[in-house]
Amino acid sequence: MLKPKLYDILVIGGGAAGFFAAIHVQEKNPMLKIAILEKGKDVLQKVKISGGGRCNVTHQCFEPKELVKYYPRGHKELLSPFYSFGPQETINWFAQKNVKIIAETDGRMFPESNSSQTIIDCFLKAAMQANIEVITQTNVNYIQKNSQNIWEVNTPNQTFEAQHLLIATGSNPKIWEICKSINHQIISPVPSLFTFNVQDKQLHELMGNSCTVALSIKDSKLISAGQMLITHWGFSGPAVLKLSAWGARELFDKKYLFTLVVNWLNEPFDEIKNQIVAFKDQNSKKTISNKIFSQFTQRLWEYLIHKSQIKLSKKWADVSKQEMNQLCNTLHASHYGVNGKSTFKEEFVTAGGIDLKNVNFKTMESKITPNLYFAGEILNIDALTGGFNFQNAWTSAYLFAENFKL
Ligand SMILES: Cc1cc2nc3c(=O)[nH]c(=O)nc-3n(C[C@H](O)[C@H](O)[C@H](O)COP(=O)(O)OP(=O)(O)OC[C@H]3O[C@@H](n4cnc5c(N)ncnc54)[C@H](O)[C@@H]3O)c2cc1C
Repeated sequence: MLKPKLYDILVIGGGAAGFFAAIHVQEKNPMLKIAILEKGKDVLQKVKISGGGRCNVTHQCFEPKELVKYYPRGHKELLSPFYSFGPQETINWFAQKNVKIIAETDGRMFPESNSSQTIIDCFLKAAMQANIEVITQTNVNYIQKNSQNIWEVNTPNQTFEAQHLLIATGSNPKIWEICKSINHQIISPVPSLFTFNVQDKQLHELMGNSCTVALSIKDSKLISAGQMLITHWGFSGPAVLKLSAWGARELFDKKYLFTLVVNWLNEPFDEIKNQIVAFKDQNSKKTISNKIFSQFTQRLWEYLIHKSQIKLSKKWADVSKQEMNQLCNTLHASHYGVNGKSTFKEEFVTAGGIDLKNVNFKTMESKITPNLYFAGEILNIDALTGGFNFQNAWTSAYLFAENFKL
């Protein structure tokens, strides 16, 4: 039998973190012998579909203390790393490889080409120039250290050997099991970044309407604010995705059955009431169907009147005190029974993974097993939508590569 090939570094996982790490460490240490092992036929498949095929590479947020606020899990550990390698360094890194990353008005940053293929081509070219072996259709089944302290990496066709192992397999349950078997704690994985299902035909008819709201969950401390979009299955949009990320574990425990409270104006009750009373006083001869708030479409306003059980044909002068209160209550705190979640197809991630306590965030080396490193989504780190998840992949991969010592 052939003796397994010995590498300085084996990277398991040909995704965003694996490629970035392999390229950067090889460029810093050209003599290293490195290979990337990828189970799929093709590498970088998530990069390809990311950001609707445009790849939202990072976010235009250059202050680490602000940036960490987008990470429900990992904010504490990423603060110091973001000072070494944050969005600006990401932009510079790609610029050196002739890929210009540009910002949209909401802060999300994409390659100028607006195509994820640009990022893939950049990685493939850099990997080739650095002589990194990329071995596809190689599914790692288990890893172990032999008596000479060398890593043995087993795949169905071949065994590989390496001095150092970087695991960058994203949210792969099999690899988490393997890590568990070598004494690493795994925070149980649950989905993050999802939309809410609400069975309400009248609401569904308003699909496409969006407005700035405040959201909370009954009997919970979870809150969020921002744009909310009505869909044909319930609610989506940044405010909902934010709630799904911060509440990933709590909502999982609730089996995605909970009451969502919508403040349609993102304003306190008294403020809403004052505005309605003032409008009523000045427009007493008009019917209530005349919308007050510019952020609502006419259809959404009529829906809210209907939800408050007031006739649309009623003149403001005839709206009773009780009806006024009903309207204020609807605007301030409408209750919706959420019964399930739907995948947000633009971006989704897994909360959970390698317990961050097991990792040295200066080198990304395991504190349990020497010469073993982690980067990317395999860690118990995940973020809101907007380029932050890739930023975690680049930053953790950079920390490994920049500080690697043979
Ligand atoms: C539809 C979608 C769109 C997204 N869009 C964005 C976006 O625009 N911006 C953003 O910031 N984030 C986005 N994300 C999240 C982002 O893609 C991930 O956070 C990121 O890809 C994680 O990088 P990674 O390298 O850690 O893992 P991955 O990119 O998942 O790569 C892991 C690799 O390891 C391989 N692998 C797994 N197990 C094994 C094994 N046993 N042996 C060998 N290989 C293995 C996998 O096949 C895969 O290629 C999106 C996610 C999805 C699902």
